Amino acid sequence: MLARAVNSLPFGLSQGITKLYFLALTWKQQGLHSLQEHHAYNKMDVKILPALQDNYMYLIVDKATKEAAIVDPVEPNTVLKAVEEQGVKLTKVLTTHHHWDHAGGNENLVKMHPGLEVYGGDERIGALTRKVMHNSRFNIGNLNVHCLFTPCHTSGHICYFVTPSEEGEDGAVFTGDTLFLGGCGRFFEGTAEQMHHALIDVLSNLPNQTKVFCGHEYSLQNLNFALHVEPENEKIKEKISWSKQRRDERKPTVPSTIAEEKLYNPFMRVMVPSVMEHANKHNPIETMKAIRLEKDNFKG
Ligand SMILES: [Zn+2]
Repeated sequence: MLARAVNSLPFGLSQGITKLYFLALTWKQQGLHSLQEHHAYNKMDVKILPALQDNYMYLIVDKATKEAAIVDPVEPNTVLKAVEEQGVKLTKVLTTHHHWDHAGGNENLVKMHPGLEVYGGDERIGALTRKVMHNSRFNIGNLNVHCLFTPCHTSGHICYFVTPSEEGEDGAVFTGDTLFLGGCGRFFEGTAEQMHHALIDVLSNLPNQTKVFCGHEYSLQNLNFALHVEPENEKIKEKISWSKQRRDERKPTVPSTIAEEKLYNPFMRVMVPSVMEHANKHNPIETMKAIRLEKDNFKG
């Protein structure tokens, strides 16, 4: 039916449609929600590796030594292919939390690539070799990694703040399912007080230009809810139209920055009067609790 309809169109147009159709089919078959994207900074590279339905894995490379670490390698084959293509030396796995869509590839990756150190903050993480806690530090080549304990989504969740050894270049934070672009993770094993601590006391205090690489491509859903909370917030509208354009091109919406999140993410803005008014609460922790509950049931 489709073939007959396409055949009756002028040749150039029908070719274009056929090409689009097969492109869509390829995306669907590969299950890719986004294309891979390489972000090159002065001292560090971050390769965004989409996985599963909407997860992100990240290959972090220290440019000086070519040493690399992988964040949440749920699809080991994709990781090893990228490692080979980049010609880097993979030595470490950074696990944000024990959920299968983040930690579920650890054991296979270690089998396929023996000798890896596996970092994480929770005994439930597969193949764990280095249990870390708040303020634990280690290196990826010359890059510094600072562990931030952010329990709530899970009781052992860790965010990894990665900075170059020298001053002058901004860092990046890998936030798993704690902080998303425009949102935050569900409170499966924690309280609003803990998420308030994670987002407001810990992550909001990182340098403003820190890049935020989160665990899922949930940005448009999150921003639609953000706009429901703050219908007058122009920054949310701008980020929605930018994100739509990115998603139309199958491009990731990550990274954002800590500064940006403070402008449009309602969970980073629980002390802002317009957000508290929407929640009809008088303090930030009660506001956090109320808007999370509302988001859990939001059909935007
Ligand atoms: Zn999770």
